[in-house]
Amino acid sequence: MRKFLLLTLTGCLWSVALFSQIQVTAPVKQDFTGPMGFLSSGWMQGREAGSRESFMAADYLLSQMLQLGLQPGNGAGYFQDFDIVRYQSAGSSLRIATPDGKSLSERSFVPGRDFVMDAGPSDISVRAPLVFAGYGIVAPEAGIDDYHKLKVEGSVVLILDGFPSLGKSSLADPASAEAGIDESLLSLKSRRNQAFSHGAKALIVICSDKKLAEYSAESGNQVPETSAFLSSPSPYPAYTDHLWALPDDQPEIPVCYISQRLAALLMGSDIAVFAEAEKTGDARKVDSPGPINNWQIHLSATFQEERLRGRNVLGLIRGADTSRVVVIGAHYDHLGERNGFIYNGSDDNASGVAGMLALAAAWKRSGVQPPVNLLFAAWAGEEKGHLGSRYFVNDHDFKKSGILLNLNFDMISRSDETDTSRNILSIGMLKGTNDLREMAIRENRYLSRPFNLDLWETTGGGGSDYAAFSLKKIPVMSFFTGFHRDYHTPGDVFTKADHDKMEAVLQLANRMLVAYLSEIIR
Ligand SMILES: [Zn+2]
Repeated sequence: MRKFLLLTLTGCLWSVALFSQIQVTAPVKQDFTGPMGFLSSGWMQGREAGSRESFMAADYLLSQMLQLGLQPGNGAGYFQDFDIVRYQSAGSSLRIATPDGKSLSERSFVPGRDFVMDAGPSDISVRAPLVFAGYGIVAPEAGIDDYHKLKVEGSVVLILDGFPSLGKSSLADPASAEAGIDESLLSLKSRRNQAFSHGAKALIVICSDKKLAEYSAESGNQVPETSAFLSSPSPYPAYTDHLWALPDDQPEIPVCYISQRLAALLMGSDIAVFAEAEKTGDARKVDSPGPINNWQIHLSATFQEERLRGRNVLGLIRGADTSRVVVIGAHYDHLGERNGFIYNGSDDNASGVAGMLALAAAWKRSGVQPPVNLLFAAWAGEEKGHLGSRYFVNDHDFKKSGILLNLNFDMISRSDETDTSRNILSIGMLKGTNDLREMAIRENRYLSRPFNLDLWETTGGGGSDYAAFSLKKIPVMSFFTGFHRDYHTPGDVFTKADHDKMEAVLQLANRMLVAYLSEIIR
């Protein structure tokens, strides 16, 4: 480290990271523009998981890894194949009756309008009493426990969408950081887990019609996708999808979203109480916690499933110590083709894969043997629920090779529209890995034009392939240059890529990797 500082202070070599033994010149544009251009070309048809073109992309990636001289990263081969389940709702129903069998109403509830079932991949049939549990949040640090003194074992738990006030209006940002609350505790996933751990058989979430339409899209009921990231209406037809999973994914307790209208009917209240709760963030405006009107809820759903194949592509640079590995990954799949439009996915995520290959190229060119194995991974099926990276981590033999760190690249060639200087770089890290955080700040200063860094932390899950690692408490560094209006639209094309910014991202990532590995051998 001291040697490095000395060299830098003498004005030496801004593009070369120099440490005690590790010298690796940073990747340059020529290392990534070719692969990014080809992967995002029309020939690749958007590389949807399981598609013919996704296998062509895998062959192309293999050819690139061979050309770079990477060794097989999965035993004797480069491919890691796995099964994927793609499934579709084949019907769902919601019935409400009193214990003696009297139904709430003669009218049947319509899927997609009155309720949306989010379940699968296994069929469900649940019959149980209904208990209201406010927002269904347990966040001890913030003094919130919506299950306090509530018996929900064997019941269906009914909760409100949205957030408790945390001292402010719930319409504002939940301001979880200010309130000292871990944001992930507010997520639906966490609320689902809370209901499950308290013994509930299913969770029902009351939401606005707009939210209901969004959930409907997410659960594959073929309703238009509304993206939170699009400020203006999209010029393209809506993208719709099935549900996808790995065969071993544990079925979670079913979640059913219902309209406020239906909830008001159930609770015998006025629909206006929900707007009141939204405004104040006070669930008691709706009802006090406890059983509701002796109702028996009967939820059922069936699914049709199809088996497809996923394929990760893995290449290795063998290190001095082969019992430890740093995984440098990026997903190569995107959304495929719909309604005659190709979702080229240049930023998302031809950029990340090309960046991963560019790092491999830089290391091979340097001729340096890394202190530990470097595994270069192109993941399949990220857009369908991080399938490839999750499969890899689940399948990994940690006794044979410990994973020290995951570098993840997902969308590294564009800028958020508000980032007018096109200089923001977001890096996500596992909570508690302050050494990596400090390293990012330190290494960024050495760039000819340092980034405006947006450093954030995850306590576990998240929105890209790093989540498979961070959920296992493996440190991560996930590089991302910002959302833009072409996110998940056919407008995400190669000609809009910012090559200068991407080159600088890779320069910083390489500096951080070198710094990290130099710490190991010190
Ligand atoms: Zn994406």
